[in-house]
Amino acid sequence: MELNTLTIKQAGQMLAKKEISSVDLTKACLARIKEVDGKIKACLTVCENEALTQAKTADARRSKGEQGELLGIPMLVKDVIMTKEVRTTAASRILDNYTAPYDATVVRRLKAAGAVLLGKTNTDEFAHGSSTENSAYWTSRNPWDLTRVPGGSSGGSAAGVAADMSIFALGTDTGGSTRYPAAFCGIVGLKQTYGRSSRFGLMAMTSSTDVPGIFGKTVADVALVLNKMAGVDKNDATTVNDLVPDYGKELSKSLKGLTIGLPAEYFIKGIHQGVIKAINQAMETFKNLGVKFKPVSLPLTKYALPVYYIICPAEISSNLARFDGIGYGFSEQNGVKNLYETYAKSRGKGFGLEAKRRIMLGTYALSAGYYDAYYLKAQKVRSKLRQEMYQALEEVDCLLTPTAPHPAFKIGQQVDDPLKMYLEDIFMVAPSLAGLPGLSVPCGFAVPDDGETPLPVGLQLIGKRLDETTILRVGHQYEQATEWHKQKAKI
Ligand code: GLN
Repeated sequence: MELNTLTIKQAGQMLAKKEISSVDLTKACLARIKEVDGKIKACLTVCENEALTQAKTADARRSKGEQGELLGIPMLVKDVIMTKEVRTTAASRILDNYTAPYDATVVRRLKAAGAVLLGKTNTDEFAHGSSTENSAYWTSRNPWDLTRVPGGSSGGSAAGVAADMSIFALGTDTGGSTRYPAAFCGIVGLKQTYGRSSRFGLMAMTSSTDVPGIFGKTVADVALVLNKMAGVDKNDATTVNDLVPDYGKELSKSLKGLTIGLPAEYFIKGIHQGVIKAINQAMETFKNLGVKFKPVSLPLTKYALPVYYIICPAEISSNLARFDGIGYGFSEQNGVKNLYETYAKSRGKGFGLEAKRRIMLGTYALSAGYYDAYYLKAQKVRSKLRQEMYQALEEVDCLLTPTAPHPAFKIGQQVDDPLKMYLEDIFMVAPSLAGLPGLSVPCGFAVPDDGETPLPVGLQLIGKRLDETTILRVGHQYEQATEWHKQKAKI
């Protein structure tokens, strides 16, 4: 058996029975990275030595009698999440060779639980994008079709798990960056409630929507990782102080009597036929599991994208101000006459096109005279949108939508059309603006209009605030009734 193909649960059982060691498991993942990552390009950094040292420590802890579901389990981490002693680039030239002095809280907690860091994964620069094409290094490839994008921005993490280079992975989700690539790569991706887990040590993008994301091969695995990372953190004042439930406990509870809302605004013209077919089939499965569907209406959904693409660049323009060529990261010294030129040239050379575009859009939206017309108005609409979603969720247990409007697109196909790229986030950004949890689960395959290979399709479950429990349970029960999550890309 190839150990790298295991789920956390499977590997955990074998580790507990001492049938395998964490070193065996880690070596299997590292070997898989060596075997396929030349083609997929998911990883920006592989930290083989550190991984093997951590694996040995995990084995030693087990041999002393310690148990733990993540003890000795390998993970990949998106390169916008800080890791001590292993560089964190944000896939940007401005942070090439930057090594953070501390671990992000979520990484620290997972490491304490015994998870083993294999390496850092590719992303769109500073997580701005939906395809990894905005990475300053390279574009990662979709394991199901190497000519296509894995989705983004956490594309490296999604591709890494889909290609069995890792048992699970971390991403971030600001406006879809975990759910969307999970759908493109045929794996599970969770965006948790804003504040459920700490943002400390995540490179700030849109601070009011950023959350850590989890990629797994099954919903149960994702629930388990969430349990180890969630909870209040003194370093992030926006974390929620509520008790963290045991997310695994309710997974096996039947769905009988549950009502799922279908928001009309998410079933619009232009969605790929194969996606519609997969969602319809999934609804049949849910009905057989005892679920009732109820149509709901979210008329403000049409404003979600414009609102997101004002608030997001506004916060980015402010958050990226810290990269000035002085504090850390790339600094242009050649031909620089004064401090202003250091700022301008370091930023000019250090940032890629998309980061610059967002800095300019955001600065514009925040500038005197335009602030009221753009930023303030967007915030007002955002409040309404949040209210509308909260109200709709009072009548149902969760919502169901497609994750992406179509399967993965070709590399290069829309990279020169930023607006088209922004439209990709159509089903993603409203839950982000409202701070609600969302889960993408594989629900079938669709043949893209410009290809022959069937590609994965995902469905999105949107939950009530802090009610990850329900969407995880719904996702898990769906998974038990289907085989989609067991399909593997052939590489
Ligand atoms: N695709 C979205 C954007 O480019 C979301 C990015 C994210 O969630 N990090 O803003």
